[in-house]
Amino acid sequence: MTCLRELQGKMANDHHFNHSRPRVWVPGPVIVGAGPSGLAAAACLKDKGVPSIVLERSNCIASLWQLKTYDRLRLHLPKKYCELPMMPFPKEYPTYPSKQEFVEYLENYAKRFEIEPVFEQVVESAEYDESVGFWRVVSVGLKGEEVEYECRWLVVATGENAEAVVPEIEGMEEFDGEVQHTSEYKSGSVFRGKKVLVVGCGNSGMEVCLDLCNHNAHPSLVVRDSVHVLPREMLGRSTFGLSMWLLRWLPIRLVDRLLLIMSWLIFGNTATFGLDRPKLGPLELKSKTGKTPVLDVGTLAKIKSGDVKIHPSIQSVGSHSVQFVNGRIEDFDAIILATGYKSNTPSWLKEKSMFSEKDGMPRKSFPQSWKGECGLYAVGFTKRGLVGSSMDAKRISEDIEKFWKAEAKNLSKTIARSFTLQPTFFPVFSCYDLENTRS
Ligand SMILES: Cc1cc2nc3c(=O)[nH]c(=O)nc-3n(C[C@H](O)[C@H](O)[C@H](O)COP(=O)(O)OP(=O)(O)OC[C@H]3O[C@@H](n4cnc5c(N)ncnc54)[C@H](O)[C@@H]3O)c2cc1C
Repeated sequence: MTCLRELQGKMANDHHFNHSRPRVWVPGPVIVGAGPSGLAAAACLKDKGVPSIVLERSNCIASLWQLKTYDRLRLHLPKKYCELPMMPFPKEYPTYPSKQEFVEYLENYAKRFEIEPVFEQVVESAEYDESVGFWRVVSVGLKGEEVEYECRWLVVATGENAEAVVPEIEGMEEFDGEVQHTSEYKSGSVFRGKKVLVVGCGNSGMEVCLDLCNHNAHPSLVVRDSVHVLPREMLGRSTFGLSMWLLRWLPIRLVDRLLLIMSWLIFGNTATFGLDRPKLGPLELKSKTGKTPVLDVGTLAKIKSGDVKIHPSIQSVGSHSVQFVNGRIEDFDAIILATGYKSNTPSWLKEKSMFSEKDGMPRKSFPQSWKGECGLYAVGFTKRGLVGSSMDAKRISEDIEKFWKAEAKNLSKTIARSFTLQPTFFPVFSCYDLENTRS
């Protein structure tokens, strides 16, 4: 990476590169995003002997975890289902590591595989240049300085959660109290004694309600759709682990049935306290729509006891109050939007066949979602969490390795030739040479 920075600096001042912005030829893949997926891809590539560079808009790795999550967050799934390739979690970590532990693990992962992302580089566009057969990736730094990276392979690792989703709600701009997305929420301590409306009943919304209760705030939860809430553990095993094990032997519908019977025995009928279950079972729903079941960490007990009130959809918002679709009006001091995230690829990736412009997700679903055309790859867009990221990273590195080895052979011959001709033009020659050797 130091080498890359030197090259970048050299090229910026190189008279042969007479462009409005410096151009950097990257021999290996450019990875956009230094979250767990980008780190996993870089590590797997490195393991295969393929160098890469990682561009990250933020000033740290795993910015979603470090900057945009609440303090009490722990991994929702047991650690063995969240480890990245080639490095298990430390034995002394608990089954569900805290976010601090997870970040520490990722920092150590980056160190171990010597991954040094280029920070504070927002990738604003990436376009495939057919005339030469490589990608032009333009990033913008903090002071607005642009750099163009040119590469044969582009790995998109910007995540399913790149931007907060903020729904349009009638009258929201009139509301006098605080309005926060969960990406800004840290702790319920600042809401002590306040009436807080949490909009959205996924894992984050449910957990924020629990956190608010624990800090003596008075949360209410807007539940618009039906939702599957499952205990985080059943029969002394994690529900996720048990499901995966049962799926080895039984069809998905039967496993769903067993999960629902167990949940009913533990929770009772969740519909009686305002949480209707979808018609499809939790695993079938997840595989068909990507909608994740909520793994309960204690919120349901608070709903049962009335500490968390349930409301239907919002009709409109006033300066201090919220009217719900059932006509009920209530006053609130704050609103927390647990309304999720979305991918941001449509805003920067100038390629429309692999990623949908509508939702920024690969058009092909798992397990085909990782590979596009012309050296384009996606890591971490499987709707299967970190397990999916690891699987993608391994596949991508294996695929690129094949081309890398073949091209490295041809390239070394050309480098030898071009160096005797004109050493200063090496990066340009190498680009065009790759075009000629492209498969
Ligand atoms: C609250 C929460 C809890 C979760 N818990 C679990 C769990 O327990 N187990 C599990 O398996 N999964 C979990 N997930 C799901 C998923 O595993 C995580 O979201 C994980 O962080 C995904 O990693 P990623 O690298 O794909 O995306 P991200 O972590 O979002 O990383 C993407 C990176 O790309 C950067 N980026 C985005 N756009 C650009 C750009 N244009 N230019 C440069 N950089 C850019 C971002 O700054 C970010 O650092 C959880 C998700 C959330 C939100």
